[in-house]
Amino acid sequence: MPFTLAAVRDRAKRPDPPPGRDMLDACFLGPYGENDSLLEKMVVEFLRDHVFWRRNFHPDDPPAISTRASQQPGYQAFEARMRRELHALSAALKKSVPFHSPRYIGHMASDLLLPGLAAQMLTLPYNPNNVSDDAAPVTVEMEVRAGLQLARMLGYPDDPAREDCAFGHLTSGGTLANYQALRLALALKAFPVALRAARVPDIDVPRNDWQAFNTGPAGAIALLDRWQRWLATQPSARRRHWQSRVEEQRIETLGLTGFFARHPELSPPCVLAPITAHYSWSKGMKLLGLGSAQLELLPGCGMRLDADALDDAVERCRHQRQPILMAVAVLGTTEYGTIDPVDRVVAARDAAQARGLGFSVHVDGAWGGYLATLFRNADGSLRSREEVSAGFRHFPRPEVHAAFAALGATDSVTVDPHKLGYLPYGAGAFICRDHRAMALLAENADYVFDGESAGDYMARYRRLGQFIPEGSKPGASAAAVYVTHRVLPLDHANFGLLPRQTVLAAEAFHARALRFAAELADVVHACVPFAPDSNLVCLALNPAGNSDVRTANAFVRRLHEELRCDPSRPLQVKEFFGSITTLRPQFAGDGDLQHLHTAEARTGQLR
Ligand SMILES: *Cc1c(COP(=O)(O)O)cnc(C)c1O
Repeated sequence: MPFTLAAVRDRAKRPDPPPGRDMLDACFLGPYGENDSLLEKMVVEFLRDHVFWRRNFHPDDPPAISTRASQQPGYQAFEARMRRELHALSAALKKSVPFHSPRYIGHMASDLLLPGLAAQMLTLPYNPNNVSDDAAPVTVEMEVRAGLQLARMLGYPDDPAREDCAFGHLTSGGTLANYQALRLALALKAFPVALRAARVPDIDVPRNDWQAFNTGPAGAIALLDRWQRWLATQPSARRRHWQSRVEEQRIETLGLTGFFARHPELSPPCVLAPITAHYSWSKGMKLLGLGSAQLELLPGCGMRLDADALDDAVERCRHQRQPILMAVAVLGTTEYGTIDPVDRVVAARDAAQARGLGFSVHVDGAWGGYLATLFRNADGSLRSREEVSAGFRHFPRPEVHAAFAALGATDSVTVDPHKLGYLPYGAGAFICRDHRAMALLAENADYVFDGESAGDYMARYRRLGQFIPEGSKPGASAAAVYVTHRVLPLDHANFGLLPRQTVLAAEAFHARALRFAAELADVVHACVPFAPDSNLVCLALNPAGNSDVRTANAFVRRLHEELRCDPSRPLQVKEFFGSITTLRPQFAGDGDLQHLHTAEARTGQLR
């Protein structure tokens, strides 16, 4: 049966019962390869299935490669060379980081979910290219569906029949998803200015450039919607005329220099982000041409954004007439897994909007996005803090619950399926709350969709390459994400069982770390400097009695030597694997630093 919306709806009518706790045993290949036969069976079955498909494509076509070809010397030489190189590769790969092992407690990667791994392997030989449904008739729709699955997890509208439905797509990773967020926010910010400059009749626009530039994301989408509806009523010649008039005024056409030269009352907007922001934000600012100097990093408290500092920064921008493009909240910092107060960032946006300063709110949930499954029921509704907290010691703190509860009110989110989604690399995701904004990113200016496809959500995103930063991209990733979310729907009773285990493990690890600190108090001063909000636990270590920060750093670096992957030595000589991070004093609040008993220089920390 073809992969159609109707078929999906049909299947959705008979949901499977939730799999329960023991399903976890079947999720991964396992540290010992425990589920090898499960994976092997699937790989062989679907490889045969693929070959069957080729053979039966036009069964009357004769084979193009002779059945005797394998006896030819050239064939055999090629096979020998290929085998030699593959053996060399397989041997070299044994030095890889053992992400699958419980001995690995370093960076964020882990074992891969079997449904995703199998879906990816199964799809590879078909080689779909998700740039457009011409090259990927099956997996483009899966990608758009995966975007809707993530939207539901976040509390965004996920019914494509709604005109304000969310939209999400996959990217190579969180870095590109963050870049896409910047691009969309800039498009929305500048569009009302362009519309004003084009002097379109019949459409009410803000009174001046400053107001237009500060319309805010919701207002800009409403304006865009009005403009598109108006266009649709125009005869085609007039429509083309007005469309190109507006295109000429857009920041995407003029470039930053041209745009701000035409609007001297405006200056390039800044981005407000917490000091913990991932370096992809600096990259994105450079790529967009705004420059990393326009990225203002706000102080934190315990590695969480200080919402009062955000309020102050917004107020200062308003006084200085400095436009703001967006405020970023991090949902699960890369180093400490701490959760920013998303609810306070949303409140800051709404308060500023009321005072004439509009900006977007983006949540960088590359790490922690999938934790949202813990907060969702199967029907998409939010679970109370009491419900979520059952079985945990501390999780979620009230602030953490408030942050997750506020996700639905943000403008866009980054989530990395290749992190807490336990899927192969090359899978990040960008999701925006109202898909209508995406029209501004369309490479083909003809973003009014005429005729029968008008209003059809799936048809609109068939040519995905129009909207995304990449061009050609792997449909196999989309299949992996979509199928995994079908096997494990993104609610607490299904996918949520995975983050539940990892948060439980982190709580146990945290408790053990505190006991470890007490047991070894006369050898080393150990502490958990920032109480974890999620599933990353960081330890700070200092030899007992030492007050010299250089000695402390040397100690931690030596320990890290013991715990890092060293390509020149066999992995097996290492008992455990860990990673290290550096805390710069200017990144931590005063209280945080005192807590660490360190003075000025940097503190090495072992995670
Ligand atoms: C990992 C991460 C990124 C970057 O994502 P990539 O997938 O590595 O491109 C961005 N932000 C946060 C918070 C991250 O943890």
